[in-house]
Amino acid sequence: MTASAPRYMARFRCIAEACEDTCCAGLTVPISEARWSLLRQRVAGGPDEARVAALITPNPDDTTGSQAGLLGKRADGHCAFLDEAKLCSLQRRHGEAVLPDGCSVFPRVLTRWGTRVEMAGSLACPETARLCLLADDALVLGPVDEAQALRPQLARQVASGDDAWTAHADTVREAMLRLLARREVPFATRLYALGRMALDLGDFYFPGTTAFAEEATGLQPRAEDASPDVESAPTADARLALILRDAGSMDTLESLRGQLAALELPGGPWAGICGAVLRSREAHVGSPRFLSLMRDVRAAYGGADTTPDEAWHLHVTRRAALDSLHGERVQQYFLHHALNHVLRHPFTESQSLLRAVFFLVLRASVVRWVLLGHPAVVALLDSPGTPVATLDAAAVECFQLVAKHVEQAPQFLEFAEGLAGEGPETFARLLILVKGL
Ligand code: SF4
Repeated sequence: MTASAPRYMARFRCIAEACEDTCCAGLTVPISEARWSLLRQRVAGGPDEARVAALITPNPDDTTGSQAGLLGKRADGHCAFLDEAKLCSLQRRHGEAVLPDGCSVFPRVLTRWGTRVEMAGSLACPETARLCLLADDALVLGPVDEAQALRPQLARQVASGDDAWTAHADTVREAMLRLLARREVPFATRLYALGRMALDLGDFYFPGTTAFAEEATGLQPRAEDASPDVESAPTADARLALILRDAGSMDTLESLRGQLAALELPGGPWAGICGAVLRSREAHVGSPRFLSLMRDVRAAYGGADTTPDEAWHLHVTRRAALDSLHGERVQQYFLHHALNHVLRHPFTESQSLLRAVFFLVLRASVVRWVLLGHPAVVALLDSPGTPVATLDAAAVECFQLVAKHVEQAPQFLEFAEGLAGEGPETFARLLILVKGL
């Protein structure tokens, strides 16, 4: 097995008691039947036997054995096995092998591309968020020690390559990463270009497509059957290559940049979407850190009675002010978030490439909204001499808390599915979101 990872994940080490959060805080932690059984064997006859028996209970909703038990929680929402030093007492005394899969792997996200395992990170961990957002070279990919890619058997299998959708996935993903990294044009233009590319590919490159089948099987029309008056249509392979090439060309990017600048769209809907996403999460999340930030952000946009148009006006004013002070730095946060998103959420798991891009843009929009409502960022705009470290700390907090409490939540994913709509409608809605970034 070969393993690769962006540099920030090769650098990652859990900072345990120095962490401002804890992986298990506020989350329900399941354990598989196999791990639970191993744990029971390891603790048998020892001082932890009774604790394990009392604190892990059968999960009535499990049907496969993969989530057979649920670990108990303390009153503060942390795992019952966390010790005073914010370390896992089970791991300390019985080794990594007894840990539930989620505890062992987090914040690593493993994906198998053929024989290659890739390790990206979840920004729900403050330390990965810091390492990912703040270092210039954080997203440079390179080999990592196999020992760092814990439990590779849990990696999601993406590219089996036996259908056109997954066979071309690596090529398409490379084009996405290259396009996102084109710093010559604003970040919003790059997302627009990504959406445009996905739209253009969408009529022949999708799950279950047969557009490539003739070429793959060598079934081309015989020369004598082809009409001499009709130029043969480009093959799906050729169209794919052409669209990927054009999407990243400077001419295309400049043209899209002009189109985006000329596009007049009301900002109220954008503000309304971001506010609605966060309000719906507040009702389900118990984390004091998240709830406190949400209260501050709401107040920074004028409180509960502000209209989306008023909140939008505040947002664009702050966006321009922050760009003039720390535009490059902010672009780096969002670029790294987007690159990491492409690495950790294989687009092949979506119904379409356009839908995958829509989810990326929606997630980026929500973080942008939170960042420009963070009290430290609002204060910084009135005190331009504030050190950039203050902005960095606020950004880490925003990206981490949104990653942990919003981005993967079932209610958010359901909302995003509904908002995305279908086909060209998805592209129109994506444009509204891109204009807010
Ligand atoms: S959230 Fe990250 S740094 Fe914090 S305890 Fe968990 S793995 Fe360690």
